[in-house]
Amino acid sequence: MTSTIQRIYPDAIPMTMLQNNVCSNVREQGGDGDHTIWATSLCSDEVTNSFHYFTEQMAGPGPFILGGITGLPFAGITGMKAFLSHVPTSGKAMIVYGPHIGITKEGEFGKVHRKNREGLSSCCGSITSAVDSISVQDSGIQDDPLDYQQTRVIQHLHNHREEILSAEHPVKVATDHAFDAIESKLLRILDQVLPEFPGIQLVLVGGVEINTDWDQEDFFDLRTYRWIES
Ligand SMILES: [Zn+2]
Repeated sequence: MTSTIQRIYPDAIPMTMLQNNVCSNVREQGGDGDHTIWATSLCSDEVTNSFHYFTEQMAGPGPFILGGITGLPFAGITGMKAFLSHVPTSGKAMIVYGPHIGITKEGEFGKVHRKNREGLSSCCGSITSAVDSISVQDSGIQDDPLDYQQTRVIQHLHNHREEILSAEHPVKVATDHAFDAIESKLLRILDQVLPEFPGIQLVLVGGVEINTDWDQEDFFDLRTYRWIES
């Protein structure tokens, strides 16, 4: 499993290391945990809850949830305004975002062993399902009000249909495009909302969360680490 992660995501680091590095950097920037709140734009899947150290270190009972399935920031402008209005006075904010992908001990992509569940299950199920959808559907996407988040995921990936379906690992390539879609949407939301909240220092922590089998530590392939100030 680790060798597969190193081969496909050579810059990925264990989740503990990522969180220690980020917390050290927040302190270097003059912040402290009691005055830093955090949000996530991660998939709804419970396996994405691997950021236990952040939960211990940061203010508040836990992250503000900006994301929906796949990790797209479905909370939108309204959700971002709510999050930024919760930042402690003279404090800082952090947003952790990105899609996730499972890699089993045996090195299988897009799957994980979950605790007390026989066999493998999809990870990310939303991205895997979207890849299945675009493989059988090359025109028109039906909007379903009972499944509108997945409709948006399919729309994003459909734009890269040829590249995804011809790839050696379609789910891996789809995950890369999902990261771009998540980051692009978040930045557009921030561009619009941040001017209403002057003086906030915000750190963006973006990448692909690599989920391993339930008894192994997860990894994170960090792709964006940047402070912005409103
Ligand atoms: Zn997922």
